[in-house]
Amino acid sequence: MAGEPQDDCLFCKIVAGQIPATIIRETETTVAFRDINPQAPTHVLVIPKVHYANAADLAAAEPEIAADLLRESRAVADGDGLESYRIVFNTGTGAGQTVFHAHAHILGGRGLQWPPG
Ligand code: 5GP
Ligand code: ZN
Repeated sequence: MAGEPQDDCLFCKIVAGQIPATIIRETETTVAFRDINPQAPTHVLVIPKVHYANAADLAAAEPEIAADLLRESRAVADGDGLESYRIVFNTGTGAGQTVFHAHAHILGGRGLQWPPG
């Protein structure tokens, strides 16, 4: 069923507490944890507890939870004292998506180039 945990999904395992992560925030619908391979002084992933392959699928099926991701992204940035930050949703392998459970990257704490690579 849409949104159900997937046995082979790394982020579903983090939600279930089966794989450790540096969790910095949790709500009824989301978890935020530090990326294992940070690309900036702040690099946090905000994920929905429900499983969807990417952010667009999440928004189509459960728009309120997609909005929760954005609310939580700001809370993460505020928590790390960031005035400026970038929210990234890599979607598809060609864009660098490697984990097919929707997630927002929150990047900040250094200058961020535009356009991104
Ligand atoms: P994507 O490439 O799919 O947009 O982002 C996946 C992110 O998950 C990558 O930035 C990668 O470093 C991170 N990641 C992969 N495995 C783990 C893990 O086991 N723990 C944590 N905290 N992050 C992970
Ligand atoms: Zn998942």
